Amino acid sequence: MNGFVQRIEQNRETHCSAEEYQHLYRRSLEQPDAFWLDQAQRLDWFEAPTKAGEWSFDPVDIRWFADGTLNLCHNAVDRHLAERGDTTALIFEPDDPADDGRKLTYSELHSEVVGMANALKAMGVRKGDRVTIYMPMIVEGVLAMLACARIGAVHSVVFGGFSPEALAGRLVDCESRFVVTADGGKRGTKPIPLKTNVDAALELEGVTVEKVLVVRHTAEDTAMKEGRDVWYHEAVSDADCPCEPMKAEDPLFILYTSGSTGKPKGVLHATGGYGVWTATTFHYVFDYEPGEIYWCTADIGWVTGHSYIVYGPLINGATSLVFEGVPNYPDHGRLWDVVDKHGVNILYTAPTAIRALMREGNGFVTSRDRSSLRLLGTVGEPINPEAWRWYFDVVGEERAPVVDTWWQTETGGVMITTLPAAHDMKPGSAGKPFFGVVLELVDNDGEVLDGEAAGNLCITQSWPGQARTVYGDHDRFVQTYFSTYRGKYFTGDGCRRDEDGYYWITGRVDDVINVSGHRMGTAEVESALVLHDKVAEAAVVGYPHDIKGQGIYCYVTLNAGEEGSDALHDELRVHVRKEIGPIATPDHIQFTGGLPKTRSGKIMRRILRKIAENDFGALGDTSTLADPSLVDRLIEGRQNR
Ligand code: ATP
Ligand code: MG
Repeated sequence: MNGFVQRIEQNRETHCSAEEYQHLYRRSLEQPDAFWLDQAQRLDWFEAPTKAGEWSFDPVDIRWFADGTLNLCHNAVDRHLAERGDTTALIFEPDDPADDGRKLTYSELHSEVVGMANALKAMGVRKGDRVTIYMPMIVEGVLAMLACARIGAVHSVVFGGFSPEALAGRLVDCESRFVVTADGGKRGTKPIPLKTNVDAALELEGVTVEKVLVVRHTAEDTAMKEGRDVWYHEAVSDADCPCEPMKAEDPLFILYTSGSTGKPKGVLHATGGYGVWTATTFHYVFDYEPGEIYWCTADIGWVTGHSYIVYGPLINGATSLVFEGVPNYPDHGRLWDVVDKHGVNILYTAPTAIRALMREGNGFVTSRDRSSLRLLGTVGEPINPEAWRWYFDVVGEERAPVVDTWWQTETGGVMITTLPAAHDMKPGSAGKPFFGVVLELVDNDGEVLDGEAAGNLCITQSWPGQARTVYGDHDRFVQTYFSTYRGKYFTGDGCRRDEDGYYWITGRVDDVINVSGHRMGTAEVESALVLHDKVAEAAVVGYPHDIKGQGIYCYVTLNAGEEGSDALHDELRVHVRKEIGPIATPDHIQFTGGLPKTRSGKIMRRILRKIAENDFGALGDTSTLADPSLVDRLIEGRQNR
């Protein structure tokens, strides 16, 4: 599984060759201040910073570019007007392909952001106020984020698929007094009653919202509460609205993590460092050149949407596509229809989507042209080598490099990846550290592991895009990230470094299985299962085993048209044994129609672990699950074993 796939000649002036990567990486470590002050020039500053990083991980105190002032809306919008006012900034592709989409040039984006900023100001939003954005994937969601940045308000985007309870929890946590929402949303054929959800959330205990701005989108009947609810189209105005000068360390946004591991944390990012980090990573990772069409399929409710639909691309003056729909509506070829319709050159999506499409067979892909695709990206979970190969071979026809990008809400942007022109790729490995990123693998006692090794992934130097705190709970920030290994940022992920210095994320450390004293990452066993031609997706957890300490319990979903059987059960056991070795032989395989995932599409192994342990009473917080009813079906499947 360690083999290279050679980097692909791009026939273009690439942004970073292998030699340049070496040189820049070394410089970023040896002269971090000079390096980052150079990168900071990607942005326009009202007052340029004279210092880069000033930080300590013990005690925890992180600042970047602290004496600089800037505004990220200015950087994403206004400063482009002179040179590329007529360039398309956003392409909107609606849920229903029969509906009209929209394109906004940078000048149009500017007028609309000003309109939104004025609407917020008219509601009473002031610098430093938290504004909660609960929106479908439409242009106005992006406008709301940029408008907050423009006036110095702190946005907190809550994914539009969350329940009223989940929304209320996030409103209370940051004492938000303002909400921006829409009458409704649509994903596939499913309507989402956003405004009704907001109304319900506002009835819940502790919520202190005073004003709700409502964008008309689906045009359904909407009850408006007098004095509280305001229609966006009635509130916009084109009055002058200059960009507020912000200190680099002023907060830009709060974002609650997706909740794979427990109660969501309000991760707080600061303006200057985050701006520099997203601008720099976008430039190098996607190798963007003017005129290209870039599409990230994430939702703005996740950090990927923040950094790589909104800030990274727009600060770079790119054309960014905003997609309201889902990959399987009207059919499983939708992504490729959108690629063809808009001539998408760069696609950035997640393993969960790749596996789901792969499951449906190649026909949906090969029936579409896709010749515009130049670069493919993935993020969110370890990508199984099998899925990587499919993405590379079938989707990109071995023409488009794949960048597997490892990062977290807390890191603000990409931390580990190959760069398209600089590195050969290894299917399943995220690759090499980005500039300024210093990784360390440590064992459970905190001993640093050198060379080829597997351990807990830590980061020892601060980087500009690093989160500054957990909103309102700095102790939790320190406890969660800096106390396991004192003086280091601990990512919570397990990782292996191979003989070529490539990093392989093996899954979350909490998910590691210990079979007869052998520690195993879940990703490896899952990848072996997915390699089987009948398996679409797999999730692996440990459960108590009398002899081995922990046994291996596998949940498996099959490709469309396949059915589970005792024969297949045995076949899969033999298959994994052959792929990895006898130690990895699954003890139980449960076939299931689906796996429990967070709203952002990540497998929630902590719930699967409880079910495997027959501990159905203590499933913990399931509010961030995409389909809570699945849990009952999984329990039933477990009991029938
Ligand atoms: P919570 O922190 O609330 O449990 P979360 O960790 O799922 O939620 P995110 O910040 O969205 O929230 O996800 C970051 C995590 O996703 C990483 O720590 C890692 O486990 C996983 N991840 C992201 N990208 C990759 C990748 N390219 N390869 C492997 N794992 C990845
Ligand atoms: Mg996390």
